[in-house]
Amino acid sequence: MARVVCPGSFDPVTNGHLDIIGRAAGLHDEVIVAVLINITKKTLFTVDERVEMLGEVTRGYGNVRVERFHGLTVDFCVANGVNMIVKGLRAVSDFEYEMQMAQMNYRLAKIETMFMTTNPQYSFLSSSLVKEVAKYGGDVSGLVPEPVLGRLHTRLAVSLPGE
Ligand code: ADP
Repeated sequence: MARVVCPGSFDPVTNGHLDIIGRAAGLHDEVIVAVLINITKKTLFTVDERVEMLGEVTRGYGNVRVERFHGLTVDFCVANGVNMIVKGLRAVSDFEYEMQMAQMNYRLAKIETMFMTTNPQYSFLSSSLVKEVAKYGGDVSGLVPEPVLGRLHTRLAVSLPGE
C-alpha cells in the first residue's frame, strides 16, 4: 500500500496546499496530512483548529486522513509505515531549503521526498501572505477554502481589535 505524508504547519490550509493534497491523493493509496505541533512558533490557529479545518476541506477524499505530530517528520513517517513525503514547490526560492530537508530526511531514515510543482494559479500563495492580506482587509476569497475564509475573518476580527 503506497502511503505518503504531506507535512506542514497549515496555518491555515490554503488552496495551494489543497491542490497538492488532492493530486497526491490521486496518485497514492493513502495520504496522511501531518500537522506540525510547534510550540515555539506563534500560530494564528491552534493545532486543533488547523486539524479541524483540514478535516473539513479534505472530507471529499476517501483516502486522506489528518494527523498531528511533533518532532521529526521522519519519525512520524516511520511510526506510520510511510516511506515517502510529498511536498509542493512554489518557486526557486523554495528549492534550496526543500532540497536540504529532503537530503537530511533520506539520510536520517531513508525517507524519500516527492516534489510536485505548484499549480501556477497558486505559486504566489502562502499561509503567511494570506494572513497578512486578510489582516488588513484584503480579499483572499478563492485563495483559501470557504470554511477557512469564515474562520479567518472571525479570528482576525477578534484578535486584532482596533487595528
Ligand atoms: P509554509 O511552507 O509556507 O510555511 P506549510 O508548512 O504549511 O507552509 O506548507 C506545507 C507544504 O505545502 C510545503 O511543502 C509547501 O511547499 C507546500 N505549499 C505551501 N503553499 C503552497 C502552494 N501555494 N502551492 C504548492 N505547495 C504549497
